[in-house]
Amino acid sequence: MLALATNALVRVLLAPACASCDGALDHPLDGPVCATCWQHVPRLTPPWCVRCGDALPSSNAGPWCVRCRRRQSAVTIARSAGRYDDSLRRIIHAFKYGKRRVLAPQLAALMREAGADVLAGADAVVPVPLHPWRAMRRGFNQADDLARGLGMPVWRVLRRCRHGPPQAGLPAAQRHANVRAAYALSLSPPWPTARRRLRNRAVVLVDDVMTTGATLEACARVLADAGVRSVGALTAARAVAARPHPPLG
Ligand SMILES: [Zn+2]
Ligand SMILES: [Zn+2]
Repeated sequence: MLALATNALVRVLLAPACASCDGALDHPLDGPVCATCWQHVPRLTPPWCVRCGDALPSSNAGPWCVRCRRRQSAVTIARSAGRYDDSLRRIIHAFKYGKRRVLAPQLAALMREAGADVLAGADAVVPVPLHPWRAMRRGFNQADDLARGLGMPVWRVLRRCRHGPPQAGLPAAQRHANVRAAYALSLSPPWPTARRRLRNRAVVLVDDVMTTGATLEACARVLADAGVRSVGALTAARAVAARPHPPLG
């Protein structure tokens, strides 16, 4: 009753708008995005590749996509809460660029649901790190916020050691070149500790958006070199533009 009255009061006094669709928020105390926008998050539907989670042309296509049939990846299973499109794209923009960090737990809840297979049996989640300069400019690492919402131990065992140009808008080949050697084991805790901790463990990389997969692949290779048993990947969204055989990462 009190919440109802407070919602009404906030609605009248402040008239906050949904951070995604800009419509009036009926329940502003529930968060900066309206229920309709959450309901219309473009979810991914089967059939999908059992390994990378990309859409398959038909359920007769077999368990793997063309790319996974062709190529080994350090990521053994990857899933995402939805397509990087429509309301999910706008929610992630509000979270990441609009600094609406309060959206992280709701995004993480969608990820837990979509990524149950990935998280099952994992020892910890590992957020994809930002370069310290970028983290300082943004004030937070969006992957870290999402990782903390997954209800698992969070191991910050990676670091971004090269400060490349923003990946958005670059062609796939360029992205792969940029991210190669851009990640390493974290120096804090000192690397022998990180290495000891990772040996024979199952971990899940966490990021906001999977585009070409190059970033996840680069991080997974560092973890594999450190002796992990398996690396999964879970992102809030994935870009699924028309790409014939998208590379995983
Ligand atoms: Zn909305
Ligand atoms: Zn695949």
